[in-house]
Amino acid sequence: MPQQATPQQATLQQATPQQARRTGRLRHGRQTLAIPGPSVMPDRVLAAMATPMPNIYAGELVDISDEVFERLPPLARTTSAESFVVMSNGHGPWQMAICNTMSRGDRVLVCESGHFAVAWGEMAEMAGVEVEILPGSLRAAVDPAALTERLRADTDQQIKAVLCVQTDTGTSVRNDVPALRAAIDAAEHPAMFMVDCIASLGCEPFEMDEWGVDIAVTASQKGLMVPPGLGFLWASPKAMAAYEHSDLHLSYLDWDQRTNVSAHYELYSGTPPISHLYAMREALDIIDEEGGLDAVWERHAILAGAVRAAVDAWSTPGGIECNIVDPSSRSDAVTTVLTGSIDPDRLRDICEDEAGLTLGLGIGAFDGRAFRICHMGHLNPPMLLGALGTIEAALLALDAPMGGSGVAAAAAEIGRHLVV
Ligand SMILES: *Cc1c(COP(=O)(O)O)cnc(C)c1O
Repeated sequence: MPQQATPQQATLQQATPQQARRTGRLRHGRQTLAIPGPSVMPDRVLAAMATPMPNIYAGELVDISDEVFERLPPLARTTSAESFVVMSNGHGPWQMAICNTMSRGDRVLVCESGHFAVAWGEMAEMAGVEVEILPGSLRAAVDPAALTERLRADTDQQIKAVLCVQTDTGTSVRNDVPALRAAIDAAEHPAMFMVDCIASLGCEPFEMDEWGVDIAVTASQKGLMVPPGLGFLWASPKAMAAYEHSDLHLSYLDWDQRTNVSAHYELYSGTPPISHLYAMREALDIIDEEGGLDAVWERHAILAGAVRAAVDAWSTPGGIECNIVDPSSRSDAVTTVLTGSIDPDRLRDICEDEAGLTLGLGIGAFDGRAFRICHMGHLNPPMLLGALGTIEAALLALDAPMGGSGVAAAAAEIGRHLVV
């Protein structure tokens, strides 16, 4: 028997006649997107994509393509890795990582910390790789000690690669990539270390060479501020060497075909993603103009701090709270907010239909229990405070339990960083 809802729960959870009468009368400004990918695209990037098609065999496009390839290693902070560009979403470089380094029957260890590492593992499984999950928590980072313990037990070194995500976009955890590298080293295990930084590259510090990452993958539509359609992969010399022994090669994603090229378009296994290359060059210019990756990371850290201050201020026991318990494991790219007795989907609908703000929904285990605020990429205080203020207005309209004003807390946090 379902329990009788308290009157307050009833207001928070049930559709009212008012809901059917939603007017949308306040939403007629610029629509604001705060979902964790695609993120808000800079106008300059969108305009660059409207450039007419050039010749693909010579001239401007070849120059731009060469330039983008030259600027890719610094983006992952590597000087030794090979860079690859796939005309795809993030699933393309996921697949590329597996089919160029693994063989049928090889084993990979997936560090569970939410939806995405596990999904990468499922892709590997379909390709013929044995997948083992290192169980983790939906509210905390991967435990490096558990990784060391599992690898130490693998005495005949069956595990060929460790797969993890830097930021899991579902839980909003940020795993400690250097600590996981240290955990592999502590076990003196030769497995390759593969990191998905699809949600985090361009938002949080990532140091491929310094952290000993063998394969890093990302996609264009999150921190890199380019519409979905480009996947990126960086492969260390150790990963490139693994290609020689792997037997899952697929022609379109094949590293050998994409490195030993006689014509420039072979880098893409066909016609280059021309509009996306124009966009990518523009986005890289925007990053440089801001002062490079360090400045971009610092801005993200400050704005993420403001989001966390807002959520903490809204928090009540059994009500709103940050999903990730340990503040040092919270991502600077996205925040998953648990909503307790408040129906998060109703909150999102009000924000979107009435006020023009689109929030991320809770995915997987968070369906109906959380919403997500994206704070990656092209974002500044007015955009963020607008989003937080709109959420707070919707919470007030729902008469939701709230500890205090999240907007005031976020403004105070941002104020601490304004130069006067
Ligand atoms: C978005 C995301 C993906 C999937 O990327 P697609 O571009 O949708 O294929 C994978 N991993 C993480 C961490 C992500 O945030």
